[in-house]
Amino acid sequence: MAAVEIESVECVSLSDGIEDEEEIQSSSHPHNNHHSSSKPHSVAPAGIGPTSVHELLECPVCTNSMYPPIHQCHNGHTLCSTCKTRVHNRCPTCRQELGDIRCLALEKVAESLNLPCKYLSLGCSEIFPYYSKLKHEAVCNFRPYNCPYAGSECAVTGDIPYLVAHLRDDHKVDMHTGCTFNHRYVKSNPREVENATWMLTVFNCFGQYFCLHFEAFQLGMAPVYMAFLRFMGDENDARNYSYSLEVGANGRKLIWEGTPRSIRDSHRKVRDSHDGLVIQRNMALFFSGGERKELKLRVTGRIWKEQQNPDAGVCIPNLSS
Ligand SMILES: [Zn+2]
Ligand SMILES: [Zn+2]
Ligand SMILES: [Zn+2]
Ligand SMILES: [Zn+2]
Repeated sequence: MAAVEIESVECVSLSDGIEDEEEIQSSSHPHNNHHSSSKPHSVAPAGIGPTSVHELLECPVCTNSMYPPIHQCHNGHTLCSTCKTRVHNRCPTCRQELGDIRCLALEKVAESLNLPCKYLSLGCSEIFPYYSKLKHEAVCNFRPYNCPYAGSECAVTGDIPYLVAHLRDDHKVDMHTGCTFNHRYVKSNPREVENATWMLTVFNCFGQYFCLHFEAFQLGMAPVYMAFLRFMGDENDARNYSYSLEVGANGRKLIWEGTPRSIRDSHRKVRDSHDGLVIQRNMALFFSGGERKELKLRVTGRIWKEQQNPDAGVCIPNLSS
């Protein structure tokens, strides 16, 4: 394949260019001044513009862009790390044994390039050098959300409208419109904590979606019940809302008031932090009335929008832990 040959030739000339650049950055000798404005791109030898650098970084097998670690065979044919695991130690270009050789020069080129966030198509317009890009992508506001359904390992990800449809159609989750609710949770054998220990209801109000979780789990020796709300969106937007939950009977009442957690926080994380209405088993059975053989809880609640205080500043990053 002619294209592959060209790439390996370019790899050699670029490695020279990169070594020059390193000298410039690490030394303080007078030559420095001449190059003070040089950007990583511009060290490519004449005739290799940004376009061909990107071509150079295209994996000859899968045509995706190559990022560290970039591999090469003894003849210099490059390969991305994903493809390397698939080719059974044979160079796909020359069929020679592949070995375990990195192409550091090309890796440096890849690291020096400014690349768009991988969620560009989802609306993110940020651009970063490779490793900053990886860091950003882990927290990018445009990254897809995980399915908020608890109780099973669901690998579905997507934006909020997609996940709402997924919850309704694939998990058969109850959908409600409105910002108040009144739910009965009935369980015939409250001692069984392991199976069917959770329930999820989705509420649509204020043009947003909220997940109301109700579940039983083991806390120490005793089962407890817990209800909490998660906001289908980011942490910053979740803070615009509050909610309250109430459960009670026979003249006793438990009330919880809180801020919904973002579904960026996993269901388990929220549960384990007890950030919601926690009902001890004895109290839950007391609220259930009857013979204490059956769990019958009536949970009422409300979601409201917090008044924005213009003096408080719009974005206070205080929940980053
Ligand atoms: Zn590849
Ligand atoms: Zn080869
Ligand atoms: Zn981004
Ligand atoms: Zn799911």
